[in-house]
Amino acid sequence: MRQIEIFDTTLRDGEQSAGVTLTVAEKVEIAHQLAKLGVNVIEAGFPLASPTDFQGVFQVAQQVRGVTVAGLARARAKDIEAAWEALRPAEQPRIHTFIGTSPVHMRYKLKATPAEILERAVQAVRLAKSKVSDVEFSAEDSSRSDPDFLAEVFAAVIKAGATVITISDVVGYITPDEFSALVRGVREKTAGIEKVKVSVHCHDDLGLAVANTMAGLTAGADQLECTVNGIGDRAGNAALEELAMILHTRRDLYPLTTSIVTTEIMRTSRLVSRLTGMPVQYHKAIVGRNAFAHEAGVHQDGILKEPSTYQIMTPSDVGWEEDHSSLVLGRHSGRHAVRRHLGQWGITLDEASFETLFARFKQYADGKQNISKEDMLSLLRAEEESQG
Ligand code: MN
Repeated sequence: MRQIEIFDTTLRDGEQSAGVTLTVAEKVEIAHQLAKLGVNVIEAGFPLASPTDFQGVFQVAQQVRGVTVAGLARARAKDIEAAWEALRPAEQPRIHTFIGTSPVHMRYKLKATPAEILERAVQAVRLAKSKVSDVEFSAEDSSRSDPDFLAEVFAAVIKAGATVITISDVVGYITPDEFSALVRGVREKTAGIEKVKVSVHCHDDLGLAVANTMAGLTAGADQLECTVNGIGDRAGNAALEELAMILHTRRDLYPLTTSIVTTEIMRTSRLVSRLTGMPVQYHKAIVGRNAFAHEAGVHQDGILKEPSTYQIMTPSDVGWEEDHSSLVLGRHSGRHAVRRHLGQWGITLDEASFETLFARFKQYADGKQNISKEDMLSLLRAEEESQG
């Protein structure tokens, strides 16, 4: 089975999220957890960006074993030198260099001709290759680049020693069909592509990061770039937990494996959320508070009879604590769910008392979001007092 590599950039792209700053110690703590989660590559930061970034990469490189540690560098000598200095202690260092290849990036941001961009890319990869054997080259803004120019740049950097080439949608603009065609086109047109790994890096500005990454995968990508909870610049990156669970849940469709330990997903998600201060939306796939919560009566009834009626994965697959498949008690809940909760709390009622309590519960739940055990106990007490 084909092994797909997971490149996690929570500590670099994720840390670039507006309002997020991680200390060096926090980066190391997250990196240890990412290693436990089973990612293949940890992009730990952008060493030239600041002394803290440099230290973050250096400490992760020194302390975290068993994974490749990458540092980001623009296609400039001083960036690459800094990345190499920061990555020195790594067991498996990777320098990740990039340059914009779209007309708008070349003309306005880099103020250079395509020929000059190609030359800078080759020089950067050559310099990085003189430091480490593992060099990733990203064509920034691939999705808005001329596909023929893209293939030319990739062929040149492969010749210069790149081991991974990345097709990116850094502005979150492309659609899955287009991205699939782009990745296929690059694979067909680029000389030497069979010698390297093809990586994809997608952003979520139109909510398509995961869909585009999956399209890239089926078009032949070997490495997926993503972040925990999908954090990252602007609307964020492809969410690691979603990609991992798509491949796990739909293994009938994708004969691929990753080294992700799915039961570490929740722990990683919580850690990243807590240390970055970025809450996870309630209905976020896989890791949101409501991701496995069922409130509707029909659904609860189905779940109690047979979980697969409304559940395609189990909460324990992703490391939610046992009880989480919470059948939430709310105004949509039916008798089944209420009875089950009472049972779990050790409360047994005769039929008549149950019916009275259920009626009170329905009335009470109408104006509330979630009904807790305490709520139910107080309803029960009120009922006893009114009879007593
Ligand atoms: Mn990015």
